[in-house]
Amino acid sequence: MAHECKAICDEDVVRKLVSPELADRYDRFLIESYVEDNNMVKWCPSKPHCGSAIRKIEDGHDVVEVGCSCGLQFCFSCLSESHSPCSCLMWKLWKKKCEDESETVNWITVNTKLCPKCSKPIQKRDGCNLMTCKCGQHFCWLCGQATGRDHTYTSIAGHSCGRYKDEKVRQLERAQRDLDRYTHYHYRYKAHIDSLKLEDKLRKSILEKAVSNSETKDQKVFKEYSWVTDAVNRLFISRRILSQSYPFAFYMFGEELFKDEMSEKEREIKKNLFEDQQQQLEGNVEKLSKILEEPFDEYDHEKVVEMMRQLTNLTAVVDNLCKEMYECIENELLGPIQFGNHNIAPYRSKGIEQATEFCAESSDCGSSGSS
Ligand SMILES: [Zn+2]
Ligand SMILES: [Zn+2]
Ligand SMILES: [Zn+2]
Ligand SMILES: [Zn+2]
Ligand SMILES: [Zn+2]
Repeated sequence: MAHECKAICDEDVVRKLVSPELADRYDRFLIESYVEDNNMVKWCPSKPHCGSAIRKIEDGHDVVEVGCSCGLQFCFSCLSESHSPCSCLMWKLWKKKCEDESETVNWITVNTKLCPKCSKPIQKRDGCNLMTCKCGQHFCWLCGQATGRDHTYTSIAGHSCGRYKDEKVRQLERAQRDLDRYTHYHYRYKAHIDSLKLEDKLRKSILEKAVSNSETKDQKVFKEYSWVTDAVNRLFISRRILSQSYPFAFYMFGEELFKDEMSEKEREIKKNLFEDQQQQLEGNVEKLSKILEEPFDEYDHEKVVEMMRQLTNLTAVVDNLCKEMYECIENELLGPIQFGNHNIAPYRSKGIEQATEFCAESSDCGSSGSS
């Protein structure tokens, strides 16, 4: 507080002398100058901006995730939404990839060619490289040139695209493989994001059920419903992690970032190890979600006790599986890779911590009064 400050500090005097509006602007100015030359304090990246500056939680980690009082949870390093177990770079690449039109463009180049006569796009449907357009034109899938009709599986009569062919085939195959891979991971990533949105509704209905139970029913198990709210929170924490474990795996076991960091065999072993854990987590998260949908407000005492027992167990199992996944990443996957900066925010059992808000009132005068 300003009155405890030993330095010459006239902030209070300033505040008393000027209009409230000007005092606000003065506060703002103090924070701005403080944030600018201090990497322990950053503006909350919410849009529209909530107006808060956030102080970094110090726990010895380079990368931490924090929560602002406006509800946004974000990565203190890159200021994106919280993204662990992805590293900042993985997340940046992934977001870009998801937004990029190039994926669609990629799909089109992989799957269609334009007819050399009428320029209509034609989709390839089978392995044969002779394409026939509706206009009657035949052409070669590999090079796009007009050809005759006679062909075998491997060649078209009177047409040869020779050495060109190998390169084209390889290019096509690679593009196809990359696209398939991306589709696989993106599909699962997206599915969990969609579940998260549905579960947001579930959370509200569960709270309503719990509150109405506590008001109308006498038994202790209805009065204290932290067992159900804890389970909902666990569902949210782990669902987010689960969804972001897919872009993590996409980069961890792909060639974009770690091509030369592992041998093919090593990559396969690590991928299996990770996917094992991921699947276990996935299975238990779905179970948790399913139990939470039960109409426990209509249950009698015995049934509620049974549901409570199941939820308490599952909540602990899911928490532990998340913890193990982060440990595996740290020790087995990213740990051995020295190259590049792929720190990830640590797993927090209790969820992302609410950061303390930084305001001009609480700033120590020594660092803000540089004028
Ligand atoms: Zn905020
Ligand atoms: Zn980040
Ligand atoms: Zn045509
Ligand atoms: Zn054919
Ligand atoms: Zn050809």
